Amino acid sequence: MVAQVIDGKAFAAKVRAQVADKVAKLKEEHGITPGLAVVLVGEDPASQVYVRSKGKQTVEVGMNSYEHKLDAETSEQDLLALIDKLNNDPAVHGILVQLPLPKHLNEDLVINAINPAKDVDGFHISNVGLLATGQKAMVPCTPLGCLMMLRDQHGSLSGMDAVVIGRSNIVGKPMAQLLLGDSCTVTIAHSRTRNLPDVVRRADIVVAAVGRPEMVPGDWIKEGATVIDVGINRIERDGKTRLVGDVDYASAAERAGAITPVPGGVGPMTIACLLANTLTACCRANGLPEPEGLTA
Ligand code: NDP
Repeated sequence: MVAQVIDGKAFAAKVRAQVADKVAKLKEEHGITPGLAVVLVGEDPASQVYVRSKGKQTVEVGMNSYEHKLDAETSEQDLLALIDKLNNDPAVHGILVQLPLPKHLNEDLVINAINPAKDVDGFHISNVGLLATGQKAMVPCTPLGCLMMLRDQHGSLSGMDAVVIGRSNIVGKPMAQLLLGDSCTVTIAHSRTRNLPDVVRRADIVVAAVGRPEMVPGDWIKEGATVIDVGINRIERDGKTRLVGDVDYASAAERAGAITPVPGGVGPMTIACLLANTLTACCRANGLPEPEGLTA
């Protein structure tokens, strides 16, 4: 079997177009423009690239983008004061604090200071609890993007066997909750899992979120399974720096029914889902119906 390639770039463009369409309607019918505030502390080069890209795409879908760049030495008190201001600003519907923060700042404290209704990253403890109890939450962007791609591929996921490799708070755990919410039978695997190859071989859906280049070989994949590769790993090959996932794409594509490539799979969906979450937060804040197909 040669797998169908799930084109995350095209899918993300479709999500952005849906968001842009709904943003235009919000403006036209209600005079509301969703706003996303992104806070960056310090000068981490990768974070600067992400923040620039988020700001650009926010504006492209017709939303307001508010960027707050703070000095690396910013005190916790000053950062919390800014978050408080953004929490109380009616023009701001989504707040994202770019992680990682400099070491002197307590990430949990900062994230939990965000109004959960504006927590478009879905990392606030209230949103974690809402998701775990099957209530309306703000859902972390990367797992939300994976869920959208899986729903698009299969329609209903009900009754499917899903394995999530990785149990981080930002990817693995929320991914497992979302799959459970869609009535999959979910196994969460991690570094202490016994017989990982056999666990993966049972799965109709494999989500790999580990951070180890090409650790899942093709012979772990059940014939016809859908493989979502969240991993982004930089490796040197043939004298060049390349990005590869957590799955060995070439061998997995020979057995899978469908597979996301790296790059061009899950990656582009993350910012698209951030925009979708900002729109959702704006609709909820204004008592309007949530955008169909863009929530969990
Ligand atoms: P973390 O390092 O937080 O978590 C990695 C998980 O993998 C842990 O639960 C760990 O288990 C598990 N693990 C490590 N080694 C093994 C192993 N040999 N077998 C099975 N499980 C193992 O990573 P993240 O969840 O933050 O990210 C995972 C990957 O996804 C990274 O490559 C990251 O770059 C990428 N990523 C991509 C995004 C995107 O937009 N596409 C967004 C976010 C992340 P244990 O808990 O036991 O240590």
